[in-house]
Amino acid sequence: MEGPRPVVLSGPSGTGKSTLLKKLLKDYKGVFGFSVSHTTRDPRPGEVDGKGLFCLPMLLGATLLPLADVLSSVSSADYHFRNREAMQEDIDTGEFIETDEFSGNLYGTSKCAVQDVRAKGLICILDVDIAGVRHIKESDLDPIYVSIQPPSIEVLEERLRGRATETEEKIQSRLEAARIDMEECNEPGLFDIVIVNDDLDESYEKLQSVLKEEIMKVQQG
Ligand code: 5GP
Repeated sequence: MEGPRPVVLSGPSGTGKSTLLKKLLKDYKGVFGFSVSHTTRDPRPGEVDGKGLFCLPMLLGATLLPLADVLSSVSSADYHFRNREAMQEDIDTGEFIETDEFSGNLYGTSKCAVQDVRAKGLICILDVDIAGVRHIKESDLDPIYVSIQPPSIEVLEERLRGRATETEEKIQSRLEAARIDMEECNEPGLFDIVIVNDDLDESYEKLQSVLKEEIMKVQQG
């Protein structure tokens, strides 16, 4: 598909990755769009459900929902929260670019999620774990790969505990995944840039600077 290169944002959960992502979406309206992933985990307080698998181009053709509802649900959703059986069915029918099991739950990027954003000419941002990065490398997406890392595992543990949304068991499994991520992120050729997020403003500057060329492409039409 023609258009700006997508962006993959990866890194352990609790690094401030979502904060950076939301800032990009807010500061660059009409430039970036978020690929809303599917997951079998429970929603956290305040998270918005994208309500299932759909393709905007298909929906528009079928006029199943008013356009405004479709656009707002796509742009502001955190995830499509699904039960495992339903998500597995969609995986089996080939609806996903990549999926991964993370901390006891399934996560995945549907073809529709990416297509919906790219069809609007926006830079598509994907938030995936490191296994997702490796799967996307095998696709024809050709994104810019950015890893957001915590200053240390101790800081990450503090942030995860401060969030108070996970059981002790889940915190431990997320910390284990984070240790692996922190080790693997420096593998040569895996990421275009690794940003250690110890200062949000500085990290945001670095992120904007690595995406500058694609941003300009969209802004200049
Ligand atoms: P969380 O439960 O904290 O929202 O996400 C847990 C992990 O799953 C994070 O590392 C996040 O990047 C990753 N993740 C979110 N969506 C996807 C996806 O569609 N595919 C993959 N592979 N990982 C995802």
